[in-house]
Amino acid sequence: MMHNLIFYLQYSMTYLRPALEIIILAFLIYKILYYMRDTRGSNVLAGLAILLMLLTTVSDLLRFEIISWLLNGLWALLATAIIVIFQPELRRAFAHLGSAPFQYKNRKKEAITEVVTAVVNMSKRKIGAIIVMERKIGMRAIVEDAIKLDIKLNSLIIESIFFPNSPLHDGAVVIKNNRIIAAHAILPLSRNDTIARSLGTRHRAAVGITEETDAVVVVVSEETGAVSIACRGNIRRNIKEDKLLRYLTGLLITENKESFSDIFETLENDKNLTGFTNGEE
Ligand code: ATP
Ligand code: MG
Repeated sequence: MMHNLIFYLQYSMTYLRPALEIIILAFLIYKILYYMRDTRGSNVLAGLAILLMLLTTVSDLLRFEIISWLLNGLWALLATAIIVIFQPELRRAFAHLGSAPFQYKNRKKEAITEVVTAVVNMSKRKIGAIIVMERKIGMRAIVEDAIKLDIKLNSLIIESIFFPNSPLHDGAVVIKNNRIIAAHAILPLSRNDTIARSLGTRHRAAVGITEETDAVVVVVSEETGAVSIACRGNIRRNIKEDKLLRYLTGLLITENKESFSDIFETLENDKNLTGFTNGEE
């Protein structure tokens, strides 16, 4: 039995190995190109590679032996050239590799602070807002139909977007990591009857998108200034500043796999908070 399994694995490896190699190489080449996509060095390298490829093809076709021999040596030289030309980029890439997990967390913390600051200010001034924070599931269809942006997250920018009568104030803002990737986004409305009856369209849209994705949505009511947070088809209303910070941290950084209400309960019990009102009022 065991013997058969090992044999089978070895057997399938002989077929899988080339495919695996191609996948690994493609991934590495993609990553390298991606890192160097807008560096000065990438043009130099692309130029060199194209020139070498052209020369190699021509000399192979015409059977120029000496040129071919020289070119073979040049390909090896190119590898050294890459290291020299891309020294700064390579250093950055390795540094990034080492610090990526920490940076990721810090960036999310930064994003949460900016969102909370903006939400608190808008709540005080009763400026209506709806902010979608993307998690694992992307929202391509919604972003495609919205106004696409690529702005480093900042509380003042969120406030400017939702400022009454600003050209972008209608619809939702979409945030990915610590960047605003879209504004003026139209979200699907929730069809959940029990939730929908007591809520206006802004709040129903917040619930709607969380039924389709794993996003976390923060809403500021224009009528009351109340702050709500929606996730996994649920919504909690009248959330105060300290709790908003705690919930967003819990939902976006700790990334619990429990259900939404479980997360809220855990967070509540953890901190012994009182005076919390939920959505079913
Ligand atoms: P509020 O408490 O702020 O009044 P509400 O839940 O009562 O919110 P409405 O009064 O209907 O909702 O709010 C309308 C605003 O909500 C619109 O001006 C628009 O900016 C936003 N909105 C409505 N529908 C959507 C949607 N599908 N996607 C994104 N934003 C929407
Ligand atoms: Mg309303």
